Amino acid sequence: MSEEIEKVKCLIIGSGPAGYTAAIYASRANMSPVLYQGLQPGGQLTTTNDVENFPGYPDGVTGPEMMIELQKQAERFGTDVRTGWISKVDFTGPVHKVWVEDGKEIHCDTVIISTGASAKYLGLESEQKYLANGGGVSACAVCDGFFYRGQDVVIVGAGDSACEEAGYLANICNKVTMLVRRDVFRASDIMEKRVKAIENIDIHFNSEIDEVLGDDQVVTGVRVKNNQSGDTWEVPATGVFIAIGHKPNTDIFKGWLNLDETGYIINEPGSSKTNIEGVFVSGDAADHVYRQAITAAGTGCMAALDAERYLAAKGLH
Ligand code: NDP
Repeated sequence: MSEEIEKVKCLIIGSGPAGYTAAIYASRANMSPVLYQGLQPGGQLTTTNDVENFPGYPDGVTGPEMMIELQKQAERFGTDVRTGWISKVDFTGPVHKVWVEDGKEIHCDTVIISTGASAKYLGLESEQKYLANGGGVSACAVCDGFFYRGQDVVIVGAGDSACEEAGYLANICNKVTMLVRRDVFRASDIMEKRVKAIENIDIHFNSEIDEVLGDDQVVTGVRVKNNQSGDTWEVPATGVFIAIGHKPNTDIFKGWLNLDETGYIINEPGSSKTNIEGVFVSGDAADHVYRQAITAAGTGCMAALDAERYLAAKGLH
């Protein structure tokens, strides 16, 4: 026999800064939000060591600590935070149906999507090791570059993100070695030219990381392989930045919501509204440009306010 269907006024999917901020606002507005944490409770920030650019933390805070505090703040006002992830949705009617991975069905008046995006990684064991222990692998130069000021770093990728991040790193680091896997950039001409003009960026084409080197605790460099000649060499570095793109976590919304060609949800400009009434989006699931904790939190707030107004207009709140 199937479980009874639960009815929820406001369902929040995802537990990064966007989801928890939406939860804080929605619970303080008596919307009794239910939040499903998703596959990576706390989101991308849980892979960041120190967060020093989130206003209100003059001494910085670790990513995991910040997410625990955000969760506590949401729970303090009554958000029902649950483990588990949403595996399917049906946005046909005014009641939005979602299914949890264990088969549970929930009918929601409003849905706030805060499923975020995941940085792509190379997949090397050594890369994953120093990513997991915070020893020097990062996918966010703006978040972590500061920790490598005055030092030598490596960046992988040749798109607009890699160029932008290489430029950012070049300003604070001693030397940036940029590894491009083909013999051309993917980035726009202007970004490519800008990067090429920066003196302390050393660009290697047809070059890929063979292994991230370290002393088990921290990164000490990378072994690079030329994918044409097969030659390998080592580049000393304390930080390795992977800038090979992001994937928004929006697969379950395909066919329901308008997505761009990469899969980012398209929201109404200046609001969190999607093409489906009562379904709102916040955070990186709709943002390939800023991708910061503070911007995600801001759009989480917007989504909760938009959801509240929607409920009020429908006489549901
Ligand atoms: P892109 O997909 O545009 O670029 C990814 C880059 O990473 C490519 O150079 C790609 O190489 C490389 N790459 C992918 N996989 C690997 C791998 N396994 N090993 C080595 N290299 C790899 O992603 P971006 O994040 O740069 O950009 C995403 C979108 O955001 C784009 O539309 C971009 O224009 C936009 N953007 C715009 C900005 C701006 O206008 N200021 C700033 C940042 C992003 P290859 O080319 O060989 O596939």
